[in-house]
Amino acid sequence: MLDKRGARIVGLPAGALDDVALAQSTAIHPDDLGATQAAFAAGMADTKPFTLEYRVIHPDGSVHNVVSRGILIADETGRPLRVVATNRDATAEHHAAAERERILAAERDARQTAEAANRTKAAFLAVMSHELRTPLNAIGGYAELMQMGIRGPVTPAQVEDLGRIQASQRHLLGLISEVLNYAKVEMGMVQYDIIEFPLRDALVLAEALVEPQARARGLVLAVAECPSDLTVRADRDKVQQILVNLLYNAVKFTEVGGHIALSAECSEEMAHVTVRDTGIGIEADQLRRIFDPFVQVRSDLTRTAEGTGLGLAISRELARGMNGELQVASEPGIGSVFTLTLPCA
Ligand code: ADP
Repeated sequence: MLDKRGARIVGLPAGALDDVALAQSTAIHPDDLGATQAAFAAGMADTKPFTLEYRVIHPDGSVHNVVSRGILIADETGRPLRVVATNRDATAEHHAAAERERILAAERDARQTAEAANRTKAAFLAVMSHELRTPLNAIGGYAELMQMGIRGPVTPAQVEDLGRIQASQRHLLGLISEVLNYAKVEMGMVQYDIIEFPLRDALVLAEALVEPQARARGLVLAVAECPSDLTVRADRDKVQQILVNLLYNAVKFTEVGGHIALSAECSEEMAHVTVRDTGIGIEADQLRRIFDPFVQVRSDLTRTAEGTGLGLAISRELARGMNGELQVASEPGIGSVFTLTLPCA
């Protein structure tokens, strides 16, 4: 029998392999017998240590894996005296290795399936975007021709309707681009051009882009604070995209007379950019959900035509793609603070 550690040393006369099996009160598995006998015979050919791995069947019928390491002891004339061998029950490790292999294979399969699905999705989206954009562009183009009276006289009411057709066409195009952008980010198809640049430039540009909308809604938008020497390592366009998205949201969800402030500071090697508004705020139970795709907390307030509920989902993915993060704190009726974190240069 094997001892507690599953190993013991047995001294055997040189000769039949059967002795190894008999010493363990077991039988070598019939499938392994031939190969094990051949390996044993090879081990007997000289006095180098040898290793045998084979299965045995215990008297209770259970199958165990055994590793035998042995060496042939010979006298000075080279005449075999005996074999010294250790037999170790390696069943547990054998099972563990098989289980590891099974898990690895399952992971490999899952990865391959996911990659294939992603490729199919990407191809589908590329085709779909083209197929949808082409007729949509035609709709917009012909509506414009008619509106301009190029196809013949149009009444003022028709001009108005044609304007609505064009507005809807632009909205649909925007939706399609947004869905495609989200799909690309989700599929990891976005390339990041990481450079070092002064954060203040990005803040000032984002403010300039959104300021007209803010003014039109009677809001005050300002860059409050940003050290001029604060430099980040990120993709400039993506940072711009995130900031503009946050500012547009702040404009959308802040009542007339409100304030929106953009500011940045550096702490623990990370830059923290905040977009703070005095808007309607977000209920605590919705805070986590707003980063999920297609979530709009109160679409009645946002004049549903504006927005897809994808802006924040895309923004957070982009922030994470640059080793950053996007977080929110908010109090209903008081306002919201979105914080974009980026690595400092
Ligand atoms: P969209 O703006 O296109 O609806 P987003 O993903 O940008 O989609 O935002 C998701 C939802 O989060 C919005 O519909 C809104 O309910 C909420 N939200 C985002 N920003 C603000 C904000 N500054 N104040 C209040 N609610 C906001």
